[in-house]
Amino acid sequence: MDYILYLIIFAMGITFGSFYTLAIYRIPKTEDILHTHSYCPNCQHKLGFLDLIPLFSYAFLGGKCRYCKEKIRPRYFVIEFLSGLFFIVLAYLLNIKTYNLTIYKVLDFAFIILYFTFVILMAGIDKEYRKIQREVTLYGIIIGIMYMIYLYVIDPSSIYRYGIYVIFYAILVILSNITLKKYAKNKYIYGILITVTTMAIFTGLKVTCLTSIAVLLAITIYILIKKVQNMKKPNKEKKTEYYKNIQIGYILGIANISFLIFVLFQNQHLI
Ligand SMILES: [Zn+2]
Repeated sequence: MDYILYLIIFAMGITFGSFYTLAIYRIPKTEDILHTHSYCPNCQHKLGFLDLIPLFSYAFLGGKCRYCKEKIRPRYFVIEFLSGLFFIVLAYLLNIKTYNLTIYKVLDFAFIILYFTFVILMAGIDKEYRKIQREVTLYGIIIGIMYMIYLYVIDPSSIYRYGIYVIFYAILVILSNITLKKYAKNKYIYGILITVTTMAIFTGLKVTCLTSIAVLLAITIYILIKKVQNMKKPNKEKKTEYYKNIQIGYILGIANISFLIFVLFQNQHLI
């Protein structure tokens, strides 16, 4: 094992994780994600250098803000840690070592990280606010197209395989813009469909099919449980509410990353 290389990759992962927690909090509020100084959401105190070290600052401060002693949600720690873990597992699965580093391996790694960033932001914002953020789906389309161009440069015959995704994107973007003005509630479904298209581009049809089946199963089971619970309740008003509150993007994200790691672990090809 390349301990130093993997330590650097882990440090990169938790730094990205720290950025994700900030972006999930700020993007829906249309705040600047790159320039404005980090601050405590409770007391608004600007965070110092020591407060910004991912993972360790949370551990050293005992999960509390240094200034107002307000508890910091464990979500920050969990996202940072899981990001660091994902970076290491991915580097290991792509067989990244100091002596065999090629430009293609670095680019493969970089593209999956760009994709991971998309999934985390999409799922994180969906979990918090139950919405698929427009800026995030736009980012997904941009990296999806960049990745297809990259794959085309490596293997020009892939153009037939990927042409279909470009058509999907075009149809979804046009449809969402036409119907959005009339039916605002459709926004969520278009966000999900664009997410699934981006998923298929990056993780291949096999992983995307497995993901979709798992998500449909999970939602079906959830609805069945809710139905049984509702039968016991006399209150009729609450009965239809739960359909609107299922965070499909969040479930999609977890299932997709799990299957991606699973398939890579078995040394199978994604496409
Ligand atoms: Zn504070």
